[in-house]
Amino acid sequence: MAEPAGADALFYPIASGSGGNAFFVRCGTVSFLIDCGISMRRVKDALEAIGEEISELSFILTTHAHIDHTKCVGSMACRYGIPVYASRGTWEIVQNDPRVKKVPPEYRRVFDASPDVDGLPDSVRITAFSTPHDAYDSVGYRIDYAGRAAAVATDLGYVSVDVKAALYGADLVLLESNHDLEMLERGPYPDFLKKRVAGNRGHLSNLAAGRFAAELAARGTTRIVLGHLSDKNNTPRLAFETVERELRRAGFDPGRDVRLLLARREEPSDALVW
Ligand SMILES: [Zn+2]
Ligand SMILES: [Zn+2]
Repeated sequence: MAEPAGADALFYPIASGSGGNAFFVRCGTVSFLIDCGISMRRVKDALEAIGEEISELSFILTTHAHIDHTKCVGSMACRYGIPVYASRGTWEIVQNDPRVKKVPPEYRRVFDASPDVDGLPDSVRITAFSTPHDAYDSVGYRIDYAGRAAAVATDLGYVSVDVKAALYGADLVLLESNHDLEMLERGPYPDFLKKRVAGNRGHLSNLAAGRFAAELAARGTTRIVLGHLSDKNNTPRLAFETVERELRRAGFDPGRDVRLLLARREEPSDALVW
């Protein structure tokens, strides 16, 4: 899989799911990761597959302190000297998580509202937005670059006002489509976990993702990538078909009005130009 020729702005899902999340973003000369919840080796291999170097990453943005989003932030900072940005609440937890290698203080960047990234060109703007999830101070990110925008919104129990405000008008949105409601209900999880996943601070169902996808399409989003699919309570086909059905129901023609894609759970998906 080669990097699309002449791609100035890229979005590349490396992994997306409870087994680990990492997205590569390029905006001109700046390249970075959103989350790093897989091994450093997998990040390196995935980047090499599109002709990118891990050592040239400018920084890492972290959404929240769950291990599927933070696993190798410390190793990346130590090995390659890459600064890691996370909300204040996220740092409090990550730095005390024995499974995550400590990020040395010189690479630790704390933010309260949105990250103020060192040396970021004026053409790139990064906005963090709160996500309703069972992790303290969890966020998603919207990246504005050269008149376009891409955003990542996973690990959200419902689509809050903050999430809507941040995502409306973005060209490309990676949106969680975590579970099928029936599969979750009938599936193997114990009751407390079912409640947690379906709750307001859990994960977004296919149906909720589909309804919100229609709102996004109505406001100009041209590509929606479904991500963070559960391996126990969902299938790629169910996620895709449910969202497609909701788009149709709202009067959109998937494939023409808006392109629907899926991020693979355990392996890289195609790099997208945005
Ligand atoms: Zn997650
Ligand atoms: Zn989470």
